[in-house]
Amino acid sequence: MTKFTDLGLGPKVLKAVEAAGYDTPTPIQAGAIPPALEGRDVLGIAQTGTGKTASFTLPMITMLSKGRARARMPRSLVLAPTRELAAQVAENFDTYAQGSKLTKALLIGGVSFKEQEQLIDRGVDVLIATPGRLLDHFERGKLLLTGVQVMVVDEADRMLDMGFIPDIERIFELTPFTRQTLFFSATMAPEIERITNKFLSNPEKIEVERQNTTSETITQILVKHTPKRRDMSAKDKREILRAIIERDAEACKNAIVFCNRKVEVDVVAKSMKKHGLDAAPIHGDLDQSQRTATLNAFRDGSLRFLVASDVAARGLDIPDVSHVFNFDVPSHSEDYVHRIGRTGRAGKTGVAYTIAVPSDEKYLDGIERLIGKPIPEGDNPWTPPGRRGDDAQEKEAAEDDKPKRTSRSRSRSRKSEDPQQAAPETNAPDAEAEVRDAEPARDARGGRRSRRGGGDDRGRGGRDDGPRVKGLGDHVPSFIEMSFEDRLSEAG
Ligand code: AMP
Repeated sequence: MTKFTDLGLGPKVLKAVEAAGYDTPTPIQAGAIPPALEGRDVLGIAQTGTGKTASFTLPMITMLSKGRARARMPRSLVLAPTRELAAQVAENFDTYAQGSKLTKALLIGGVSFKEQEQLIDRGVDVLIATPGRLLDHFERGKLLLTGVQVMVVDEADRMLDMGFIPDIERIFELTPFTRQTLFFSATMAPEIERITNKFLSNPEKIEVERQNTTSETITQILVKHTPKRRDMSAKDKREILRAIIERDAEACKNAIVFCNRKVEVDVVAKSMKKHGLDAAPIHGDLDQSQRTATLNAFRDGSLRFLVASDVAARGLDIPDVSHVFNFDVPSHSEDYVHRIGRTGRAGKTGVAYTIAVPSDEKYLDGIERLIGKPIPEGDNPWTPPGRRGDDAQEKEAAEDDKPKRTSRSRSRSRKSEDPQQAAPETNAPDAEAEVRDAEPARDARGGRRSRRGGGDDRGRGGRDDGPRVKGLGDHVPSFIEMSFEDRLSEAG
């Protein structure tokens, strides 16, 4: 079996790897490190969790140990799609570059330009950046990319999702033609293929097994629910989430709760907190210092529930998560695999719940096709109050059987029987949450509101933004239909 000592890495790096407790390289490391050390371009088709970060940081540290950085001219560049991933790469450098005198700078949004500029001015060996922030610095004339000898593009497929590909192309063009490129992507979409053909030169291609299979250590459970009305599904799902957490009790040591939209992330976190659960949100619109603090609290165990969007949580290395909840079924099947892969890591067991409503059916089909098996259905521990037959909606249903009245009187009485009107939400934050659930996503679809200097993890058509609800959405209040019918019959 290949050992780290067989790969040609420098002695200081090997010592740091040993200190980190690793002796056997993962397949992507065994495949990528030797050609990288030879100066060849590498195309790694690998997902997060495969050890791919070390597959580029280790050879880079070895290669950069010779030579010195010059002011404003970084010798190497690592591009990552989100601030958290960039910060994670920086941590990897800190771990493995101990003992090597390499300097690094992290250029991410939400951090002051001044501090970052001072570091660049002094000269850095490794520059780790999100694409938007890097171009900001470049445009301010504070940075020259002509000294870049090694350029890494990490999570290229996520860059594509986030609309960063034009930025990446521009950055490629600003670096010397002779640079070495180490390029990583989980999938090879046609657009990714196009840029690798354009910018990589005879790369060594290493493909590690696609993670379309889910780990055997994860127990997957599907909890299906049919809300009485479609616009009640978010509120019902919050009830179900709490009921599962209560049922699993201590077995649910900690959890990541995934939502499809940033608004939903906020609503769910707020609602959980209100119900006494220790939860905090993480998504691209939050202040960087807050995101870092939340993440650190979750990592060190002082925060039990992390409510997250896909973009914010993508690739985060958080060991030891007992539960994952898909509060929303992800619309992209691969996100399901990524999400549930946050638990059951390194041979540990984990539980992944997916809460689904009827409108999720087509996404569930896609997920089950991808993972090649159905997600086993489990019990729904929550009983809606309506099932006890004593709420306003039951009365409303009974009302449907009564003889018809005139359109005006009916319309009026209908309104007064509307559960929203007859029984106003007493649960204030949840009531507010309900209103926000029905709101369209505030971000414009297909456009970052402020790409420069804002959240780097928002892109054109970024998945975090979610679909906009048009007009009334799919829900048409029943009183509208009723009065229309009545008018028709009157006209007839
Ligand atoms: P990555 O895919 O880079 O996000 O790495 C996923 C996790 O694997 C991280 O926690 C790494 O510290 C860990 N890791 C990296 N290389 C190895 C290795 N050779 N053996 C065991 N774990 C590793």
